[in-house]
Amino acid sequence: MRKKISLAVPVYYEQEVILQFLKETKAVLDTLPVDYEYVFVDDGSKDQTVAILKEQAKTNPRIKMVVLSYNHGKAFAATAAFTYATGDYILYMDPDLQDPPHEIPRFFETIEQGFDLVWGIRKEKKDKFLNRLYSKVFWGTLNKYTGLEIPKGIAVMRMFTREFAQNLLQYKETNRFVEGLFMKVGMHYTTLEIDQRERFAGVSKFNFRRKMQLAFDAIFDFSELPLKFAVRLGFLFVILGILALAGLAIAKWFFIDFQAGWPSLVSVIVVGIGLQLFFLGIVSLYIGRIYKEAKNRPLFSVKEFVNINQHENV
Ligand code: UDP
Ligand code: MG
Repeated sequence: MRKKISLAVPVYYEQEVILQFLKETKAVLDTLPVDYEYVFVDDGSKDQTVAILKEQAKTNPRIKMVVLSYNHGKAFAATAAFTYATGDYILYMDPDLQDPPHEIPRFFETIEQGFDLVWGIRKEKKDKFLNRLYSKVFWGTLNKYTGLEIPKGIAVMRMFTREFAQNLLQYKETNRFVEGLFMKVGMHYTTLEIDQRERFAGVSKFNFRRKMQLAFDAIFDFSELPLKFAVRLGFLFVILGILALAGLAIAKWFFIDFQAGWPSLVSVIVVGIGLQLFFLGIVSLYIGRIYKEAKNRPLFSVKEFVNINQHENV
């Protein structure tokens, strides 16, 4: 029996690239001995993305789409795509063609050797210098402090088995750092170096602020580093405080008329209060996330299905 590949593709304001994406992927997939489908998840675009895909879906039953009610963020759009994918293998890909479709056959050959997950690794990054620097610092720090050991230079493009997807979907957390979850599922994975291209058209949706948010989420979702940092710094200040007190006592003993001034007192108070607020802030950030998880809300809200019979899948 032919294996079926599901292309899981989050789309958000991608009207300029989507037709080219369909064209290039079709050209490659038609040469493979596989059956395939597209599972597009629109993450709340207000341009022509949904209209274009709907038009295509009318004549092409391979094109399926889940339209989310509003912008949920890429991690959630991707999760929705994995949920509705029906293939034996799922290929997670961006539509902007930065990870090129001509690499698809290599993913297929590799996963057929019996892996559960094949990560794409960027051979050479066509990114701007600042983006590369950011990636280096981000993934380096993350691996160091979370112990996740995410391979260096990972691309979005990756292929995994249905079983892997099912395991991944067991992770229901609403604070969702997808790459971390992929590593948590683990199983039997390998990496594959792939070419990189420039974004075909349109603009990147991940500006500096969104990237920082991602880094922040990753650290808070997968490590207790900020808590440990708070405890260590707090401890250090206690020691310093005791030393300072001892110092003052000794000074007082020797220089009888010690005029300890207000400045030192005030600075101790200010630093002390500042530290307490800072630590309280860190603790509240975790509590906020616990609150979010405790509500146990669904991961995404669907406005419309195209070419999907929702009862068959979930
Ligand atoms: N994306 C999404 N929801 C968002 C932001 C982005 O689904 O809120 C999708 C977008 O459609 C694109 C992918 O995430 O397919 C990657 O975004 P982009 O290419 O803009 O980021 P970059 O490659 O520059 O990091
Ligand atoms: Mg991109």
